[in-house]
Amino acid sequence: MSKTIAVIPGDGIGPEIMAATLEVLDALDCGLVYATVEAGMVALEKHGDLLPKATLDAIARHQVALKGPLTTPIGGGFTSINVTLRRHFDLYANVRPAISFPGTKARYQNIDIITVRENTEGAYLAEGQTISEDGEVAQSIIRNTRKGSTRIVRYAFEMAVKKGRKKVTAVHKANIMKTSSGLFLSVAREVAKEYPQIEFNEMIVDNACMQLVMRPEQFDVIVTTNLFGDILSDLCAGLVGGLGLAPGDNIGEHAAIFEAVHGSAPDIAGKGIANPCALLLAAADMLDHLGMVAKGTAIRQAIRDTLAHEHDAATPDLGGKGSTRSFAAAIARRVRQAA
Ligand code: ATP
Ligand code: MG
Repeated sequence: MSKTIAVIPGDGIGPEIMAATLEVLDALDCGLVYATVEAGMVALEKHGDLLPKATLDAIARHQVALKGPLTTPIGGGFTSINVTLRRHFDLYANVRPAISFPGTKARYQNIDIITVRENTEGAYLAEGQTISEDGEVAQSIIRNTRKGSTRIVRYAFEMAVKKGRKKVTAVHKANIMKTSSGLFLSVAREVAKEYPQIEFNEMIVDNACMQLVMRPEQFDVIVTTNLFGDILSDLCAGLVGGLGLAPGDNIGEHAAIFEAVHGSAPDIAGKGIANPCALLLAAADMLDHLGMVAKGTAIRQAIRDTLAHEHDAATPDLGGKGSTRSFAAAIARRVRQAA
């Protein structure tokens, strides 16, 4: 049986890392058909539209998209395409795994933390931002809802069950933001009761930052609101060696978009040295989502083995001597051997 997915190569290094990722997916024989569509600067130049309707239609039709980084022009009244996509498809769960890989210059070697970040409300409401006429007072509203908090916390627990994880930590600031963060925390406590088999604890965000840096091994799944999740997941990416290995999954009821956390990296675009692993790990998460868990695992294992035994093939950001292509070819060879 074949499954069609929307593929958006994107801007900057996007087309290079997408080609590398599709090479590995093809080597895995996943039976995927690619509906390639455009967004970002490429789309603006070709079609005069950052986010053409054909692209939205393809994502809606196929319900799963693999997406390269998209550049939104600064100024000119453009809203971020990534934010627009999340809103349009109500992709409320932003899942960001941080896993250690061998031979990277990371501070820790055994990290395996998944941050589940609320992706649609909290501090990210553009309409909640005001400034007084005299410019002396600026105000931003944080709005959490029971519905929004419930579905993100439930998502985290359901994911924990499905992936065989042991613990969920709710990160909050309910001691200061008693209303908004307080609502999130009380919902988290309620939902946690439905999952007695999963250990639950709660942590104030400032303490969570310190604990993540000092004793990251105590964390398994973190669930938190939008802004805290944004910050904490970058912190977690830093623990495992940076952006080159950080995938981000945006999940909703009707669609899911899988992407790398990093941007279009214009400074290295076209040089053939971009690390394809973040997008590749997003593709592995996509395979999990599509029910092809063994194939997702095979990608992660092939990356691990390549870094451990064939480090020279890796891109320079991971201390290798290779290129996007040599790295992808080495990973593709290993998934083929394993199949
Ligand atoms: P954007 O505006 O699209 O976010 P940016 O200039 O912020 O682009 P990022 O893509 O966020 O750039 O990257 C920040 C730094 O990390 C850059 O120096 C970039 O070269 C590097 N980087 C990002 N992704 C990769 C990658 N996949 N491989 C190697 N280096 C990367
Ligand atoms: Mg950036």
